[in-house]
Parts: sequence; C-alpha cells; structure tokens
Amino acid sequence: MATENNGSLAGSLVSESFGSLTFNMDVMREKLPKDVFYLLKQTIKNGEKLAPETAGVVAHAMKEWAIEHGATHYCHWFQPMTGATAEKHDAFLSFDKDGTVIERFSGSQLSQGEPDASSFPSGGMRTTFEARGYTAWDPTSPAFLMQSAQGVTLCIPTVFISYHGEALDEKTPLLRSMTAIDKAAKRLLGVMGRTDVPKVTTFLGSEQEYFLIDKELYEKRPDLVMSGRTVLGALPPKGQQLDDHYFGSIPERALDFMQEVEKELYKLGIPAKTRHNEVAPHQFEIAPIFEEANIAADHNLLVMDMMRKVANRKGLALLLHEKPFAAINGSGKHNNWSVATVDGENFLDPGHTPEENLQFLVFLVAVLKAVHKRGALLRSGVASVGNDHRLGANEAPPAVMTVFLGHQLTQILDQIENGEVKTASERQFLDLGISHLPVVSKDNTDRNRTSPFAFTGNKFEFRAVPSSMPISIPNTVLNTVMSEALGELANDLENELKGGKEKDTAILDVVRKAIKETKAVRFEGDNYSQELQDYAAENGLPNLKTTPEALDVWLDQSNREIFEKLGVLSAPEIDSRYNVRTEQYVMAVDIEMKTMLLLIDSMILPACIKFQASLGESYKLLSEQASQIGLGSDTLKAQGELYKKIAEDIAKTMKGAEELNELIEKMEEMEDESAKAKFCASDVLPKSVELRQIVDELELYVDQELWPLPSYLDLLFKY
Ligand code: ADP
Ligand code: MG
Repeated sequence: MATENNGSLAGSLVSESFGSLTFNMDVMREKLPKDVFYLLKQTIKNGEKLAPETAGVVAHAMKEWAIEHGATHYCHWFQPMTGATAEKHDAFLSFDKDGTVIERFSGSQLSQGEPDASSFPSGGMRTTFEARGYTAWDPTSPAFLMQSAQGVTLCIPTVFISYHGEALDEKTPLLRSMTAIDKAAKRLLGVMGRTDVPKVTTFLGSEQEYFLIDKELYEKRPDLVMSGRTVLGALPPKGQQLDDHYFGSIPERALDFMQEVEKELYKLGIPAKTRHNEVAPHQFEIAPIFEEANIAADHNLLVMDMMRKVANRKGLALLLHEKPFAAINGSGKHNNWSVATVDGENFLDPGHTPEENLQFLVFLVAVLKAVHKRGALLRSGVASVGNDHRLGANEAPPAVMTVFLGHQLTQILDQIENGEVKTASERQFLDLGISHLPVVSKDNTDRNRTSPFAFTGNKFEFRAVPSSMPISIPNTVLNTVMSEALGELANDLENELKGGKEKDTAILDVVRKAIKETKAVRFEGDNYSQELQDYAAENGLPNLKTTPEALDVWLDQSNREIFEKLGVLSAPEIDSRYNVRTEQYVMAVDIEMKTMLLLIDSMILPACIKFQASLGESYKLLSEQASQIGLGSDTLKAQGELYKKIAEDIAKTMKGAEELNELIEKMEEMEDESAKAKFCASDVLPKSVELRQIVDELELYVDQELWPLPSYLDLLFKY
C-alpha cells in the first residue's frame, strides 16, 4: 500500500482509507497494551504528562507499525519561525552488540530530538541563551507516514524549544494559548455556577484559498519563483469583473489536482470537505471539517505542503501568496473559530434554553471585549508582507478590526443595552427569539462578507488571516485576547455577586456593561467603503496599514503583559517574534525589489530597446519614402509619436529603476531592522508601484513577441 500513490478513488470508500497513514486511535488500541493505551489516551485528551516507560512502549509499537507500512526513517516534524515546517530525518537503521543490522527506535528518540537550532530563526534568543534547541513529541497530534517516490518516513509532530524551554516555534505558543482559554473559560463558568465542565478548547476550520497556474509559465516568471507574486504585469481586459469563475464549474485540470490532493489528505486523516472555485480566475479554495485548533494548525500546514507536492507532480504551480496578481482578488485563510469543550459543547452556540442563551451572551461579549480592546494585536497577528497588499484591497477585509453580528443579534444586544431586558427570565428571552438564533443567523442572506471578524451562527470567521501564514500565529493571539476578556468578565461577575445580586441578574448586568463598553467595535456596514475608514477614525479604532506599524504593537507594555500574565509568551519570546517578523518583512521586500530590478534590467529593457530599434528602423524608412508614397505629415507624425513615447518610457523606466536601487541601498545601510522595515513601507514599496506603472504601460505597447515574460493573460486565462 505504501506505493499505491495514484489512480482513482473509484470503487474505494473514503472511510476505508481515512487516516490509514496515521498512528490513530484504532492503531493504538490494536498495537498497545491496554494500560499504556489508556494512559496515552488520557495524555491526548487532557494533556497529562506521559511517563518515559510509557513512551518507550509507544515508540516500539509506532516503529513496528511504521515498518509494516514500509518506513525506513523517522523524523521530528516541527514548525520553526520560518513560516514553514521543518523535518530532520534519521534512519531506524542501527547495529546491535554483535554488529548485526537492526531497526531501532527508542522511547527517548520518540520523545526528544536535537535538530541544529542554529539553522532556524530565533530572533535574537540565541545571543542570550544556549544555541541548542530540542524537539519534543506532542502526543496530542497523531504521528503520520509521509510517502515519497522512493520510500516512507514516519513523521512525529513535535514542539521546538530552546535549552531553557523558550519556544522557538509557532506550535508551543498555540498550545499554551489553548491552555489559557481552558483556564479562563473554566474560571468564568465556575463563577457562573457551573463546575461540571470538562476541558475547554478552541476549534478551527480553515478555508484555504490558493491559485493554481501552469508550471511552465510559472517558471518563466522569476518574480513568481523568487517572491511568490508578480511585481510587474499589465492587467488583461478581462479580469474578475466577470463573476463567472466563482462557484462556476471547476476546470478539469484543477479538479484532477484537487482529487489527488484530497486522496492524499484522507490517508493522513485530514478531513478535506469543501472544494470550489474562488472569485479570481485560477483561484480555488479547500476547506476541511473543523478540528481542535492544534490539530487543525498541523493539518493546515500539511494541506499546504501536500498541495505543493501534488501541483508539482501535475505540471502545475501552487501560489499561496496573498496577492500574486495586482488588482485581482487576493487569497486569505478564513479562520472559523469557536470555543467549546472537548466533548463538543459550543459556547458560541446560542443554544435552546434561557440558561444556554445567557451563557452564549457571556461568551459573545467576551469576543467583543477581546476585539475591542486588542484589535491592534489581532491586526499584528495577521501582519505579513503579502497580507499588506490584501487588507483593504478588492475583496479582502480591511486593516481595521471590527465585528459583524448581523441584524438580529444587534437588535438583541441593543435591547439589553437599553434596559428592555432586565432579568433573564425565560419569557423575555424567548420573546426576543434568541432560542431561534441558530436557524436565522446561519442563513446566508444575513452575511457580511466584507467583515474581518464575522459571527456566522455558532462560530466567528476571522477573515483577515493571510493565505500563506501558519494559522498557529493568529490563533495564538486570538486565544490569548479571548482568555483575557473571559478573565475580566469573571472578575466583573465576582464583584457583582459580592454585592449580593441574584446570579442571572448579575450576569445580565455584566453583559450589559460589556455591550456598552465595546459598542464601537461593532460595524455592520460595508467594510470596503470610505464609511468604515471614517468610522474607524471617529471611534479611535486602530487602522494599521502596514506590517511594520502593526508589529510595533508588540512593543506596547500593556499588550506584552497579557501574553506574559497568561503564560503564552515570555518577554524574550515576544522580542524574538518581533525581531523575526521584522527581519522577514525586510528580507521579503528586499528580494521582491531586487527581483524587480533584475527583470527590468536584464529582460524588460532589452526587449523594449529592441522594439524601439524596430520602430526607429521603420520610422526612418517611412520618412525617407514619405514623399514617394504620398504620405501625409500627420501620418508620419503619429508614427513618430509612438517611437518617441517608447523612447521616453524607456528613459522613465531607467530613471525609476535607478531611484529604486538607490532607495534599496539606503535601506540596506540602515542599522536598525525596524527602521529598515518602516522605510520599506514608506519609501521603497511606493517607489516600486510608481515604477511598475511605467513598465506595465510599456507592456501594452511593445510587440508581444518581444515581451520576455508570460503576461497576465497567459497566466490567468489559459490552462
Ligand atoms: P462557509 O463559510 O463557506 O459558508 P461553512 O460555514 O460551512 O462554510 O464552514 C466553513 C468552515 O467552518 C468549515 O471548515 C467548517 O468545518 C468550519 N466550522 C463549522 N462549524 C464550526 C465550529 N463550530 N467551530 C469551528 N469551525 C467550524
Ligand atoms: Mg467562509
């Protein structure tokens, strides 16, 4: 089965292959002694520590299982701060005492590894701490087998930490933020009188958008290869103005790709559910069924990785960049998020009884408080060089973080605010129709697709998440700010109860106070409009347009404190992330700009000059023969105008390129990374936009045969 890699799903049920390459519950039950299986299950469900002896037994079973499936190697699979995953492979191969070759895999090899930490970004933590980094097994995420043409590798999901326990990865903070939510939610529920609650966690369903284009054309675009986006390219006459792509029939080549991806994902236990065309030509979406956030985060990375591999096999190139094509819809990752118990009681579900309604309102206002107080932090959690092009452009949500609740919920909150609801008696709540909310809010007509943070019936959809970013990053922030809000509500409620108020009245009073305090963060209008921009300014909502501005939020003491207080990130860990993200931003802009200059100098200008020469040649011939063929002076002049325009645009391009180059040099000479980043945003990138306009205009005039790059027309309208 290890080599059964292609072919169709026809005749085989997904349920039969689902998870067949994972060390899942069924395999564990079968392979492990009963007591070990029970202990491991407790660890997976409740995060309890696993004893080394137990790890040894699990390692043995895991190895046996992996070898049965053809594995020769194992790797610790982790998420360094590079934005991708990393893996270091080791063979099971070993010698026993007599020198005989055997396959070995011990408990300690399962539990801990030591990749070379110095090759991964640490954002300066290495200067203060030892350079060593360790990977440690995360038993909550199932181990899986990665198949490749020549063999199979056992992949063990791990966290990546420094010698002193600092998180060097994206996964550790996510896990800590989930623990923070568990604690905060349980405390609040306890104050509300509920003591029976099992572990509280967050669930995530991540809708992944992407572009798929022909690989041969892709390889002819150094800008796509180097930076993931086109830094040049004139717009085709037919853009996405024609809405025929969205939910249109999926092109055969793309469908073939999707089906193979899904088949591979099913084997890895990833519940890919939805596939469709997106708004732009050649843009698509894949969405799995929601899972616990840490698993969903691993799975999303595997989805991106698998899509890249399958695309490559099929002569296609996968573009995960947030804005591969200017003026055409970009890609995001809609982050469907809910807070629930591990048993599935969803606190963002309005429920069917007055008690459930009230509990829902408490969690709802917690979200409002979180976004209201920490909107800037949420914005910084989705900040990336690619996402700067997206937030605020075309279909994407803006950089202002507001919440959309829909008409009915807004009405209910207004009534609570105005004191029309005074007690949480059954009658009044039912009169308000809260118990029917799920039905109504899920209705698609009540949706605001422009909102960055929208309530969608029993979950929130955070739409500002960039398509290429690991979802651990924004969700760590989201969980942290939510934990803070839950904690504040618990404090408020405790205070109210101390005053001797009846419980339901006290809860409603706390909810009312939160509704009033957070009112400004609710915005039901069109988020792409000027109205929103004005609204943000009037109400003091942060509007951080660029990544460097957004990252500065991490320097704010009050923001830093909540991460420290809730045990999600320590001060050095915050600094390291600030440094890594700033460096990544600068590096990305630097690469984009140098690629742009390379294209202009070595491809565009030579082509334009050739075209200019041919125009010159023809103009010369024409003027020599004008009188002979009776050519009017106007006609000759018109031809001369074109010749002149091309010559002038070439000169403008040269000048623009030189200016851009000077700005890059100036930026590179700066000492401070943050100053570099700000200069990139304020000077370098705007200059490149100016330069691009000139080049894109030239593209519309120059002979297509001479133009050295595949055009937008080639890339987006041909398969
Ligand atoms: P759309 O937003 O396109 O209408 P859906 O609402 O059906 O699509 O679901 C989008 C994503 O939200 C899917 O990944 C789905 O599994 C996920 N989802 C559904 N319910 C929840 C929930 N309670 N918590 C988190 N994610 C959820
Ligand atoms: Mg959606």
